[in-house]
Amino acid sequence: MLEYQAAKELLAGKTILVTGAGDGIGRTAAINYAKHGATVILLGRTVKKLEAVYDEIEQAGYPTPAIVPLDLKGATEQNYQDMAETIAEQFGHLDGLLHNASQLGALGPFEHIDIASLEEVLKVNLISQVMLTKALLPVMRKAPSASILFTSSSVGRRGRAYWGPYAFSKFATEGMMQVLADECDGSQVRVNSINPGATRTGMRGKAYPSEDPQTLKTPQELMPTYLYLMGDDSQGVNGQQFDAQ
Ligand code: NDP
Repeated sequence: MLEYQAAKELLAGKTILVTGAGDGIGRTAAINYAKHGATVILLGRTVKKLEAVYDEIEQAGYPTPAIVPLDLKGATEQNYQDMAETIAEQFGHLDGLLHNASQLGALGPFEHIDIASLEEVLKVNLISQVMLTKALLPVMRKAPSASILFTSSSVGRRGRAYWGPYAFSKFATEGMMQVLADECDGSQVRVNSINPGATRTGMRGKAYPSEDPQTLKTPQELMPTYLYLMGDDSQGVNGQQFDAQ
């Protein structure tokens, strides 16, 4: 776990988009980014959950966030382009992008992989991230210093039996991070990936239903790495794989 103490105003004046901001790690990251001064754009598919995060940020007196309801499963390139235009109009530039939303899909033996569900996992965990990043890169290049963070997994670094589509999508995420980081090398945009490690969330509970959640790290305990990579202290760090635990 990274020993890092984020300055109170680390993200002051920055605008940061977080996908899957309504629950789990994304929710905690969004609140922490706001706490450190960022205006956070909360993207997710369940509006009620996004509104709850919005209210929590408002009530704490942090900068007023924005909500973007979007299901990554059905979203088109046009949806992302429209969003990028709105962000450019409202904020001028975007300083941070945390790709956090993912679907676990079905776990099971290779012979049982259902192609429709494989396509859905790849759409949400990979293709939507390509479309979102493509649309937002121009507005991120307008920021004095910008950070793109992809969320990986230990099964995106070493394959494991029965992890199927989810593992494929996380390997692809690491590949995408490396390709984009190489393209951005030497520019003011840096690109890295985080493996959160086993964390107490709904997704982990689905993957390991018999595990005692109390034995797991909470999303809050991962935040030093999430803050370090989003703030200017990580300027110049590019193309690296991080473990939040
Ligand atoms: P959760 O399932 O708790 O939260 C995921 C969030 O993503 C939810 O808010 C969910 O929305 C949103 N989301 C899922 N599908 C879509 C979609 N189609 N469109 C829009 N939003 C969507 O997961 P975690 O917090 O555990 O995971 C966060 C990231 O960390 C993921 O990328 C995951 O792969 C990764 N990770 C997690 C680990 C863990 O142990 N928890 C370990 C390794 C990696 P809604 O609330 O509406 O369902």
